[in-house]
Amino acid sequence: MSSKFWSERIEQLEPYVPGEQPKIDNLIKLNTNELPFGPSPLALAAMRDQLDERLRLYPAPNGDQLVAAIADFYQLQPEQVFVGNGSDEVLAHLFQALLKHPQPLLFPDITYSFYPVYCKLYGIDYQQLPLDEQLAINVADYQRPNGGIIFPNPNAPTGRLLPLQAIETLLQSNRDSVVVVDEAYIDFGGDSAAALIPYYDNLVVVQTLSKSRGLAGLRVGLALGQSSLLEALRRVKDSFNSYPLGRVELAGAAAAFADRDYFQHCCAAVIAERQRVSEGLSSLGFAVIPSAANFVFAAVPQGYDASQVAAALRQRGIIVRHFNRPRIDNYLRITTGSDEQNSALLAALAEIVAA
Ligand SMILES: *Cc1c(COP(=O)(O)O)cnc(C)c1O
Repeated sequence: MSSKFWSERIEQLEPYVPGEQPKIDNLIKLNTNELPFGPSPLALAAMRDQLDERLRLYPAPNGDQLVAAIADFYQLQPEQVFVGNGSDEVLAHLFQALLKHPQPLLFPDITYSFYPVYCKLYGIDYQQLPLDEQLAINVADYQRPNGGIIFPNPNAPTGRLLPLQAIETLLQSNRDSVVVVDEAYIDFGGDSAAALIPYYDNLVVVQTLSKSRGLAGLRVGLALGQSSLLEALRRVKDSFNSYPLGRVELAGAAAAFADRDYFQHCCAAVIAERQRVSEGLSSLGFAVIPSAANFVFAAVPQGYDASQVAAALRQRGIIVRHFNRPRIDNYLRITTGSDEQNSALLAALAEIVAA
């Protein structure tokens, strides 16, 4: 249903379709990679502490207190940190500010499906380079003229990690374009490329509090990079919305970054459970891609149809993500849940694929 009042570009957009957020309460929700644990109790307390008459005042436009907490965590300067309303907003600003050039932007054929959406929104030319047979990024493919490079590390929805060394190769062989590493899942098993920021003026690292810090409902994301790059993001932000984060968000996010113990505890618990789920799936005949994220990407056993397996799980109250796309339509992406949720998942699958 369109309308004659729409601008032409809106007519042609193909918006991103987020994973389902069901209204039913007692489903086991393993479809959008949220943390199975709540946010840090210190973050909750910091947010409650904001609920008073100070809310009549605008928040700090650049989120100084949160920026300081993040700079401290990554051993960077405050000018090397940019915060926004979820990493999706930060990514949108990045596409517009740093990735729109005459040469095409490069990213994998199987990756975060928001990237082509931003390209269409901003009129950015792009080229998708196929992952190899094992669904891994082949760094050598990215040594061709380009107007920028972006990929998640670990990649989504595969969960595969590109080692820091390979990222350094990419940075060195693409000195004249910006390389964006979207680290939504890095805390579950990889080293952040943030450590390379002092050495490369073409690197931007993007992260979110939605996954490893259990704050998807708060909407906080960030970019790390040399200040000349991030200045471009500030220019977009201040031409769009000067206050992307409210007082509650800023205080909660800063406290979440400061609470390192809770963060490390949650990540370690997810990693241990991911290992158990991976082994359980393998023994049921699934082909599991080694994951460094808080989900696993697994091909269903021979003779089964992934969309039917997903439907059978749903009947048992468990939701996972199936992508009806070439090359990956026999895979399921399964978020690592709590111990009980994962046990329920494995028990349900044992019924479904043995039947
Ligand atoms: C979840 C996710 C994001 C978005 O995170 P928000 O901060 O919640 O907007 C960005 N990139 C990738 C690869 C993700 O999986």
